[in-house]
Amino acid sequence: PAKRTAIIAGNWKMNYGPQQAASFVGEILPALSEALQSQDSVLCILCPPAISLAAVHAILNIPDASATPYIELGAQNMYFEEKGAYTGEISPLMVRELCTTVILGHSERRMYFGESDELVNKKTLSALNHQLRPIVCIGENLQQYEAGETDHVLSAQLRGSLAHLTIEQAREVVIAYEPIWAIGTGNAATAEIAGKVIHHIRQEYQSMYGAEAASAVRILYGGSVTSNNIAEFMAHPDIDGALVGGASLKPDFVDIVRHTV
Ligand code: PEP
Repeated sequence: PAKRTAIIAGNWKMNYGPQQAASFVGEILPALSEALQSQDSVLCILCPPAISLAAVHAILNIPDASATPYIELGAQNMYFEEKGAYTGEISPLMVRELCTTVILGHSERRMYFGESDELVNKKTLSALNHQLRPIVCIGENLQQYEAGETDHVLSAQLRGSLAHLTIEQAREVVIAYEPIWAIGTGNAATAEIAGKVIHHIRQEYQSMYGAEAASAVRILYGGSVTSNNIAEFMAHPDIDGALVGGASLKPDFVDIVRHTV
């Protein structure tokens, strides 16, 4: 099977307005570009708050691809409709003007904003229909993990959030496995546990969309990833990269990219 290009995505969450976003990216950009130039098998995606996307887009100078290879932009959320009376929301057409990617169904959106698998599925289909790459997040909570329900919970989230895709779309999706107990806690899953779960996700995906889509889909790990543990995750054959929260707000993000092989 074709090799899957690794992805390191930085989810800034609700941090860095336009001014701070520009100064942070300005600070890390020389080292980040250098790290990416020396390894052409990693795609780096920055996901600032929506209001800061334009500022980061301007700094990255994206039309000049040679200046900043392999750095793309992603939104952290979007609504599925193209336009209209949806106060406070942003649409796939708007995201597409600045971004290649959109994070959907992050556990914080599911927890604090009531997003269901059904809503995440509508957003995922909308993203794909607007040539955006969705990073669809799934993950069990601590209680489910301790009760041994992880595989069952993830299968249900996967089937709910990723229903009705074409085979072609099923290849384009990126899945992020983010155990809720590992997010923002400093308590990352071990590479062995994450690898086992991600292997299960890939098998479930195979039963949904076939062997070819399952071997093409990229599945990331997320949850307290730092430059100290990224190499262990990347060493597992089923893990295709990371969705990074806290550490993406610091220069450590560059070291994560450096240690991604
Ligand atoms: C996340 O928000 O997607 C995440 C993985 O956060 P952290 O890296 O801070 O655990």
